[in-house]
Order: sequence, then C-alpha cells, then structure tokens
Amino acid sequence: MSTGIKNLARTLDSVDFLKMDRRTFMKAVGAMGATVFLNTYGAQMAEALEFPETKLVWLHGSECTGCSESVLNAGNPDFAQALQKLNVNLAFHETLCAQQGIWNDGKLVNTSELNSEILLEELFKEGKYILVVEGSIPNGPDGSGRYLVIGNKTFKETLGEAAKHAAAIVAVGACACWGGITNAASDVAKNTDYRGVAFSKTDASKGMLKELGIDKPVINIPGCPAHPDWILLTLGAVILGKIKIPDDLPAVLDQYNRPKVFFPPDHVVHDNCPRRGYYDRGELDEEIGGPGCLWKLGCKAPYAHADCGIRRWNGSVSMCTQAGGPCIACVEPNFPDGSRPLFVEAEDKGVVLGANIDTVSKVAVGAAAVAAGVHAVRRMGKGE
Ligand code: SF4
Ligand code: SF4
Repeated sequence: MSTGIKNLARTLDSVDFLKMDRRTFMKAVGAMGATVFLNTYGAQMAEALEFPETKLVWLHGSECTGCSESVLNAGNPDFAQALQKLNVNLAFHETLCAQQGIWNDGKLVNTSELNSEILLEELFKEGKYILVVEGSIPNGPDGSGRYLVIGNKTFKETLGEAAKHAAAIVAVGACACWGGITNAASDVAKNTDYRGVAFSKTDASKGMLKELGIDKPVINIPGCPAHPDWILLTLGAVILGKIKIPDDLPAVLDQYNRPKVFFPPDHVVHDNCPRRGYYDRGELDEEIGGPGCLWKLGCKAPYAHADCGIRRWNGSVSMCTQAGGPCIACVEPNFPDGSRPLFVEAEDKGVVLGANIDTVSKVAVGAAAVAAGVHAVRRMGKGE
C-alpha cells in the first residue's frame, strides 16, 4: 500500500463512513482499493448489517464470464466477504447458483430451490433488487433476440422483465455497457445486432432498454474485464445510499454513464503508466519484452480514461503496461473497434477519442524524439 493511501486510510479511519457525504465517500473509494476500503471500515460495515438486506440479481448475456472471474478474484476481502460486509444476498447468479433445473420422471421440477427459471420469476415478483448485467444482448435476428435463448426465453425478454422490477441497474464489463467484443464490426454484426444495456457502442439511442421501451438509469462499469474494485465499490456506494438513484447520477457519472471516480474524464491511463518515464525520454520499444514505452507497439493508454495506473490490478500488484502488454483501452465505449488493430501504433489510423492534450503538450516540450507519437496523440485528440 502506498504511503499516500496509508495516510488517507489513517485519516479516514476516524470518520464514520456511514455519515460521510457522497463527495467524501466517492473520494475515499477512488483513492483506496476495495481491499483497503472494506478493511478500513470493517467494523463500521458491521453497522450496515442493520440496513435491510439487499438482493442482487446478476444476469449473464453474451459474454465470456470474465467479469465474474474478475470479481471472484478479488482478494481480501474476497467477493463472498465483501457481500457479507455489505449485507448483500446474492439471490441469483447463473454460474454460482446451485439451481440448474432438475428433471424427474420427464418433468422439470418446478421449485425455486431446484429450478433457476422459477427462482428468477419469484425474484422478479418480489422486485427491489439491484440488477447486475454481465454480457451483451443480441437483438437479432430481425429484432427477435433469438440469438440468445436461455430456457424458453430470449435473453432480451429476461433482461426486460428483470429491469422493470429492479431498484438499480449496473452494467458490468464492456459487453453489457456497449456490446464490447460481441458488438465488434464483422460480416454478421448486422444480423446479430448485439446491444449493451444502455448503449450500443457510443450510441445511447440503441441501448437495449431503449429498444424495449424501458426508461431507467444504468450505471456502466466497463472494462474487459471490469476491475473488481470498480464493481465492488460501485455496488457498495449504491447499497449504502452514497449514490442515490437517480438524483446523484448526473454528478457522479460521465457522458457514457461511467463513475467519474474510476473513469476520470480528465485523466488517462498513460498519465500514471509505470513506463511513462521512457515515453517522456522517447525510449519507445519496437519489440515486445523490453523495459521501454509501448507506444510503438500499439499502446492505446493515451486515450483510455481509467485509473489502472494508480489502482493497478491483481491486488495492486501490476497492470497491463507494467506487465509488458500495450493497453487496449478496454474501458472506452467503442472498444474494441476504436482500438483495432490492437497492437499497431495509432499513428497508422485516424482513431478519434479524447486524448489528454495537456499531458501531450508537456511531453512535447522536452522530448523531440517522441515527435511521431505526440503527433499521433494530437491527431486523435483533435479528431483528425
Ligand atoms: S504510451 Fe503506453 S506504455 Fe508508453 S508511457 Fe503511455 S501508457 Fe505507458
Ligand atoms: S490498462 Fe488499458 S487495457 Fe488494461 S485494464 Fe486498463 S484500460 Fe483496460
């Protein structure tokens, strides 16, 4: 844990987080990982048990389950401990549920203990749960949604029912936010017509809820996968009433419904990259495996709005560029198309995304050697 975070944890230790206003709470969760935050406030979290239990219904659409994997890899507290601390009942999660449907004498047993479809219907009737959606929703073919049928229902129908009765909706991962990899340009994209819950790529008029005529706010936690801290701390903020829905959302979210605390509009991954010194000195690697900046190897971090460079991954141990992999800007709404070809220097294509021009100009002052890279980032920022 860095000294800064330790100091912040110490300072905030004396504060009753339950009484914190939203601004302070969001500052705290932005600066501290889920581990530090939940452990620092462990004792006070116990008080949260006096809160009524919150039900979580976690649905899976078209996806790889990577975001569930990511949150299940949260270390200390782990996912189960975090849910316990927040007094959450994980009422439904397809890959974690025991209920899979039991057949007896040729008939499906129709009890919620043994049949996940019945369980889901009961939960829909009870309502007032937080709905987490992982994975995209196919609208094709021809608006039927039949490219994804679970049980006897299209996922499109299931999502609609789930959303109608939800108290809050959180889309987790690039697929649920905007379609992600399933929504990438391809020969079949028009037929499959994958959508995110509230967006299709950058288009809010093509989100699946809009298609279904449901007007409810959605919090987007993108990433491919999403960071466990982003998921747990956002859920924590919603559950503890630190983000009031819908009143607080305009202040808390950016134009793509991402919490600004984790996806700051004025900050890109490149700003805090551990290889940043190499970029500033113009030491740009041309082969994978070296210590230098990965810009020439296709790093897209100069236009990826996320706190990966500060928060780091895997218990704050490392992150993509630190481990030698160019950032692919997996948090951006036109991922992966906006980042393709993935490992090719962005100079070669006219990608238009919000580069941090301030950062770039600082670089330009002292590093003539990186002129090519700077030029490319400027082009991206200007949308040329
Ligand atoms: S371009 Fe990529 S590897 Fe290079 S300093 Fe920026 S984030 Fe790090
Ligand atoms: S460093 Fe880039 S590719 Fe890696 S998780 Fe962050 S935004 Fe995604």
